[in-house]
Amino acid sequence: MESHITSYITLVTTSAVLNLFLCMYTYFRRAHFPNANIFILYTASLSVYTFGYAIGLASNTLEQMKFWNIVQYIGMPISAPLGLLLMIHYTGKKLSKWWTSALFIIPTITVLLVATNDWHHLYYKKVWLREDSNVPVMAMEIGQWYVVHGAFTFSCLLCAGLILIAQWRHTKKMYRRQLLTLIVSQIIPMVAAFVYLLGLTPSGLDPVPILMCVTSAMYIWAILSSRLLTIVPIAKESIFESMREGVLVLDSSYRLVDFNRSLRLMLPEIEISMVGQPLNDIWLGLAGETFPVEYEREGLQTDLYWQLNGETVCYQVRTSYVFNKNPQVVGILIMLIDITEQRFLQEQLKQLAYFDGLTKIYNRTQFLNKGRELLQEARLNLQPVSFILFDIDHFKRINDTYGHDAGDQAIIHVVSVCNGYLNSEVLFARYGGEEFVIALPNMTNQEAYHLAEQLRIALLDQPLDIQGESISVTSSFGVSQTGSEADTLESLLRDADHALYESKRNGRNAVRVYSASVSSL
Ligand code: GH3
Ligand code: MG
Ligand code: MG
Repeated sequence: MESHITSYITLVTTSAVLNLFLCMYTYFRRAHFPNANIFILYTASLSVYTFGYAIGLASNTLEQMKFWNIVQYIGMPISAPLGLLLMIHYTGKKLSKWWTSALFIIPTITVLLVATNDWHHLYYKKVWLREDSNVPVMAMEIGQWYVVHGAFTFSCLLCAGLILIAQWRHTKKMYRRQLLTLIVSQIIPMVAAFVYLLGLTPSGLDPVPILMCVTSAMYIWAILSSRLLTIVPIAKESIFESMREGVLVLDSSYRLVDFNRSLRLMLPEIEISMVGQPLNDIWLGLAGETFPVEYEREGLQTDLYWQLNGETVCYQVRTSYVFNKNPQVVGILIMLIDITEQRFLQEQLKQLAYFDGLTKIYNRTQFLNKGRELLQEARLNLQPVSFILFDIDHFKRINDTYGHDAGDQAIIHVVSVCNGYLNSEVLFARYGGEEFVIALPNMTNQEAYHLAEQLRIALLDQPLDIQGESISVTSSFGVSQTGSEADTLESLLRDADHALYESKRNGRNAVRVYSASVSSL
């Protein structure tokens, strides 16, 4: 065997061994490498490629050479897309499952066509043994698919190189040496393949397999000396992924670029395949509306209510811009913070502070606050306001005869009957033990009287069933209305109370409207 062929085989074998070493090194230290799986596959594919190539070169018969050529092709076609994937992940980008799979369509076809070439000759038109030199070499005439495969491999290398170059401006100075190493490692095989295709290599030998050992050596240097693929991406990824807040990253045209693990738990409907789509389109698909926060503006906050596992949760949504060094806005961060618990407690506090625990209508304090506001507004609009105060008749008897719980039931019953007649504009509150008040905006005392009559009759007509007995729970009503500038909430309630007292005095289960003459009684 000629000496330069021997040296060539030695170099290719060295390249194969180096790649295998790198593959095993990454495998055993995979916990320390982000995207270790891609790197392991990448170096494994290069090992298969270069070993297959070396053994093929050392073979003597055409059959052996063809066999080892197939072995070589098991590794070689997938190495370029794997290299591209590695660079995509290294630069912090993500590719959907669909696109990742699509990258391996052409390589798969290539392997199948090489393995079955004798039947169709689509990859090599002709393969023969060249014995003009001292060493037998497999010679071939390339077929159509060879061109497709070559163009695809070249495109992968080019894309990976361009992705890395685009990353240059976003990379801190201290990490640029690593980036440069990677860029060069992408350019070397491209240049070598060009030189080979132009027929400028000595004895027509392919320099790419040897150079794969140079690029591998660069990777080894980069990994061991500058901790490439370790510290920076791990730190970045672990902070991003371990955040409790859900984060959506948009680019400057509001397309989804990335999201973290917490977000996947908070909005399980968001999928990797949605990366690249405008957020508003995604949201239209998920919620039937555009995203509820104007993320075009920074610093906005909104509450977002979402159904998660059959329960309503509340997320606070915050936005902030991502600037480059210029500084220009290059993206938007949308942060989701789970505040369901907080909102729940706030709601509970509000219930305790403003509502009556037994009947769930306003309590006295809230009635006084809201009533004052209502009076003021009515005064500005020159509108009347009427008040109805009512008290359950002979309530003590219910308590004494049937017990306190039955009394409570009677109170709830009265409220639920009245609620059926009151709209959301009126203020209805539990004023005391079994005494209630209603403020009626824009209503005269005549109208209020009729309403009170309706309530009285409804209560009379709907007895309460307690312990199998039907009990009539009637009430006495007093009505008052704003009339002069001097009216205050207190004076109007006092008037209504006078009228109520009149109703009680007149035999109960009655309605009385306050008038000055009644007050003097
Ligand atoms: P009247 O027709 O004159 O109003 O007679 P009454 O028996 O209803 O007398 P009054 O209005 O003075 O009765 C108030 C009673 O209501 C006293 C109290 O024991 C009872 N009470 C107050 N709050 C509650 C409550 O939350 N639950 C129950 N079960 N009873 C209450
Ligand atoms: Mg009372
Ligand atoms: Mg009473």
